[in-house]
Amino acid sequence: MSDLFTDPSPDPSTQLIHHPYVPPAGFETVTTAVHKASTVIFPSVAALRNRDWKHKSGYTYGLHGTPTTFTLEARIATLEGGKYCTLVPSGLAAVTLVDMALLKAGDEVLIPDNAYGPNKAFAQGELAGWAISLQFYDAMNPADLAAKLNARTRLVWLEAPGSITLEFPDLTALVATVRAHNQTPGQAHPLGVITALDNTWGAGLAFNAFTLGVDLSMQALTKYPSGGADVLMGSVVTNNEALHHLIHLCHMRVGFGISGNDAELVLRGLNTMALRYAAQDAATRQLAAWLANQPQIAVVLHPALPGSPGHAEWQRDCTGAACLFSAVFKPDLSQTQIDHFCDSLKLFRLGYSWAGPMSLCVPYDVPAIRTTPWPHQGGLVRFSVGLEAVADLQADLAQALMAMQYSKG
Ligand SMILES: *Cc1c(COP(=O)(O)O)cnc(C)c1O
Repeated sequence: MSDLFTDPSPDPSTQLIHHPYVPPAGFETVTTAVHKASTVIFPSVAALRNRDWKHKSGYTYGLHGTPTTFTLEARIATLEGGKYCTLVPSGLAAVTLVDMALLKAGDEVLIPDNAYGPNKAFAQGELAGWAISLQFYDAMNPADLAAKLNARTRLVWLEAPGSITLEFPDLTALVATVRAHNQTPGQAHPLGVITALDNTWGAGLAFNAFTLGVDLSMQALTKYPSGGADVLMGSVVTNNEALHHLIHLCHMRVGFGISGNDAELVLRGLNTMALRYAAQDAATRQLAAWLANQPQIAVVLHPALPGSPGHAEWQRDCTGAACLFSAVFKPDLSQTQIDHFCDSLKLFRLGYSWAGPMSLCVPYDVPAIRTTPWPHQGGLVRFSVGLEAVADLQADLAQALMAMQYSKG
């Protein structure tokens, strides 16, 4: 091959492609280089035949990983205290990858009633169409999970806390319930019923999912690991090699690739993630406590607030909390007034997602998105606290509450 560059005969158009670039040796930097590839070049036919993408013994094709994505996988696995990581193009793709890898026609999946909405929607849509049945369970009641586990159950989703209503479940008790079921005679599946945690809120920082006994932990890297509100990505981490193999095979078959540029953004975000998590945690608790004392508010939901559902479990299992809290308004305030409150906010902008630099809020109709009883009458708004000054955010909430007071219901 090197003859090509001393031999003047190839046309310049050929030489533009077969260039003498060699990756720099001895160029050590803080950052990871952004490698982008579909094709990976093999030095010989023998190498092409021998390199096995299944065990990551080398690079085979862009979809199967690059030095950049392998580095990010290793860092996410380390963050979560796990061994194996698979990266996918969004947090939701991480959910659907787990479902597709583990569930077959005739199986059943159990999902917490307060789970991330699109997780439930995929099960009600595609999984139902593939003859995979679904039951919702009450994450705050391990006996309800125990009653719903059956011979067809293959996968149990966990989420801590619930996406909108922020109840923190007893993960240890839920995992123990599944393990007890796996011990019952007739539980023939070699891997048993698998527990998969949506760990986006904990982000690998608030608690260690594997210490609590879950089999799989997925995250929307879109949230804290990115931190920039500018990239979509997801991860699936496990310590179980057989389980990882199932995830990995499915990942290859569905073709969930991620771009080198996106991987770079997440690698950058990881450097500041622990600091951002702690800063946003402190700001969120301050604002949640303040809002809980305002006359328009019935209750503020945040696992670190005494009285919030699952506060004791959060205290037992966690060293921190994410940047989310939800406020339930007093029942005499109409949805129109609550909408007016949201529209009056100037720093909290209306938009989905969280853990980025900008504070956000979204009003939700909770009874419409759950089957378990909801004890509150008033409307709910979920807040995501960004990196702005806390005093400014508090002043923004105060002026919007005032604007709501003078609005007509
Ligand atoms: C955002 C989110 C997801 C999905 O992540 P995307 O990257 O937006 O697809 C999954 N679970 C939870 C709890 C989330 O907040």
